[in-house]
Amino acid sequence: MVPPSLLPADDSTYVAVALDLPVDRLFTYRVPAAQREQAEVGHRVRVPFRGRTLTGFVAALEHGEPEFSVKDVAEAPDDGATLTPDLLRLGAFIARYYGCSLGEALAAMVPRGVRQKGKGRKRTRVQLCSLEAADAFEAAGRASAAAVRVLRRLRTHPEGLLLADLCRAAHVSPSPIHTLVRQGMALLHEEREVTDQLEEAARSAPRTTPHELTPDQRRAVDALAAAVDAEQFGTFLLLGVTGSGKTEVYLQAIDRAVAQGRQAIVLVPEIALTPQTVRRFRGRFDRVAVLHSAMTEAERAAAWRRIRAGEADVVIGPRSAIFAPVPRLGLLVVDEEHEPSFKQQSTPRYHARDVGIVRAQEVGAVVVLGSATPALETYRNACEGRYALLELPVRVGGRALPSVQVVDRGSPDERAFGQGHISRTLEVRIGEALRAEGQVILLQNRRGYATSVACPRCGWLLGCGACDLTLTFHRHDGLARCHLCGHEETLPLACPDCALPRPAMRGVGTQTIEEELGRRFPDARVARMDSDSMLTREHYEDVLGRFEAGDVDILVGTQMIAKGLDFPNVVLVGIISADTALALPDFRSAERTFGLLAQVAGRAGRGDADGRVVIQTLMPGHPAITLAAAQDYAAFARYALEDRETFGYPPFGRLLRVVLRAKDARALDSRARETQGRIVRAATRETHILGPAIPPVPRVQGFHRRHIMVKATDHREIARVLEALRKAPRPKGGVEEIWDVDPLGVI
Ligand code: ADP
Ligand code: ZN
Ligand code: ZN
Repeated sequence: MVPPSLLPADDSTYVAVALDLPVDRLFTYRVPAAQREQAEVGHRVRVPFRGRTLTGFVAALEHGEPEFSVKDVAEAPDDGATLTPDLLRLGAFIARYYGCSLGEALAAMVPRGVRQKGKGRKRTRVQLCSLEAADAFEAAGRASAAAVRVLRRLRTHPEGLLLADLCRAAHVSPSPIHTLVRQGMALLHEEREVTDQLEEAARSAPRTTPHELTPDQRRAVDALAAAVDAEQFGTFLLLGVTGSGKTEVYLQAIDRAVAQGRQAIVLVPEIALTPQTVRRFRGRFDRVAVLHSAMTEAERAAAWRRIRAGEADVVIGPRSAIFAPVPRLGLLVVDEEHEPSFKQQSTPRYHARDVGIVRAQEVGAVVVLGSATPALETYRNACEGRYALLELPVRVGGRALPSVQVVDRGSPDERAFGQGHISRTLEVRIGEALRAEGQVILLQNRRGYATSVACPRCGWLLGCGACDLTLTFHRHDGLARCHLCGHEETLPLACPDCALPRPAMRGVGTQTIEEELGRRFPDARVARMDSDSMLTREHYEDVLGRFEAGDVDILVGTQMIAKGLDFPNVVLVGIISADTALALPDFRSAERTFGLLAQVAGRAGRGDADGRVVIQTLMPGHPAITLAAAQDYAAFARYALEDRETFGYPPFGRLLRVVLRAKDARALDSRARETQGRIVRAATRETHILGPAIPPVPRVQGFHRRHIMVKATDHREIARVLEALRKAPRPKGGVEEIWDVDPLGVI
């Protein structure tokens, strides 16, 4: 990479541009004199590249004429998409650490709407040309009744009205308005439809006042406030059981940063970015920007510009919000920091928490990582003193943690209970909860009707021909679907292996549970929430709203319902099967299971009534289940860390996962062997290289897959291997090769 020049912009005629291409270099372009002012480091430019025009960022200014002929920058639009020096440095870090090009890293940091031309829908605004002219026009009796109504509205709105709003307000069709335009009375402006959420929010959010802090919260807030005041980088782990008031700690720490004129970024898992969450922040701060996936690119771009101008004090969003261009970052909050959604599953495969810590360190900001079940990596950093540990061991208001009961589905007693998926114990508890007019949440971590379609005689399983995964049966349309590629088919009339008629269905999804509830509790009002039923955000909010209003007694759902919901009337949480997650072939499956059970259990008993949790399992002795039942994170962490150490897994080792895929298995295997050889040559003896192997999901959408796992004791070793891979030629023959540094999944 060309080092950024220290020479002033007006002295330079050539720039090094980072393009969004998987090519590990910058490209030189000439800047025509007319655009010189805009071609500064961090600025977005459009440049010609192999017959196309690509968008990139100026990474450096080059002084002196290059020895080869270069093209001119096509366009350097002044659209506010300039990356600040700290974001540019962050991009360089991401490129180096995760092994992508600088252009790929920078492209992921800026919303597309800012990078490319704004694509928001157009809308029309109507404005009065002049008050006097309108008065004269009316006085002369030239205006129709409709026109009079239109003019009356426009007089009171000198800034103009949207055409649609004006039609509604004046009870007219657009035609009298167009007539007024032709008569020279009114003007039309085309503008892009961009909802200004900052303004909207300020109007709508009801104020809340800070809580009187508990002694534990006070200690945490004091520690954070001192660090914020000192403008000194530091990372804190806020380890607080569910309902311990972590959010109140965030709010008061943010208040401190905002009072100093600095900004805060709050990262939340995408799934937890609910209206409820947002309301809690908007209730305390006036200038809150929310970045969410349902925004249009134009809205995102508008929010980005305002954030950059310092008009938002608090920015809330999922992982990409870590790149929000706040001018002076004071505090970074990562809520539920253990959540896998903070890691991006496409290039650049960054982890927002880890990148956030790097960004905070650069600018002297404070980081708070909050969780009831921190990632083991984070917990170990706290135990070893790299992060400061702040604990909230009890729930606010002296509320008890819910009492947890583990039901062994394999016990003779339960087996005698019958065919259903709701155990005798759980049925009794649901009945009690309903009689007490409490609400119930049931978690089944599978969508659809049955996990699989299987032959009860010979064990044949209906699988996806393209992905080597079992299909899931959906009752509403009678089809079996692949959850990886979307393939769907009807059920066979008989088992293809042993000819037993119509295989019996096995496994259980959210829909099965919904139906079983209908039979057992015919009077209960049941709602289901999973990604099949929640096709739109409105639907999701509608179900949550009905649950909150008490119009739903039992909410059945996948892990969507485990996060961030705070409903005081929930007295019972049931987990239909704790085993689904434990059975995954992944070294993190115990950690995931423990976390999920603890999170979902935390939804119970948040109000005045005590909460109960029932966990159904076929493995009642597994530590992830017994320790989740005891709600003992520290004991679970001890158990799991020991296991990780034995096998050299993170946090005791670092991983790089190379995944290769291709339609042609031979080309794939040959490239996989080449890559493995390259890794072997670059690595030291202590590094373990596993594979090339066939991963647990061997085929996706017709592509064969192979993977290689590199397990090293520290990151420098991973960096050395990555460097060797980056120098190698790109794969040919339709083979794709991706590098995943600190991978979260191995499937
Ligand atoms: P967590 O994020 O740790 O699960 P929350 O921040 O959601 O916990 O807090 C749980 C509930 O307790 C919320 O309804 C919150 O408003 C309330 N709460 C938090 N702190 C206090 C306090 N100091 N006094 C009274 N209520 C509080
Ligand atoms: Zn069979
Ligand atoms: Zn498939």
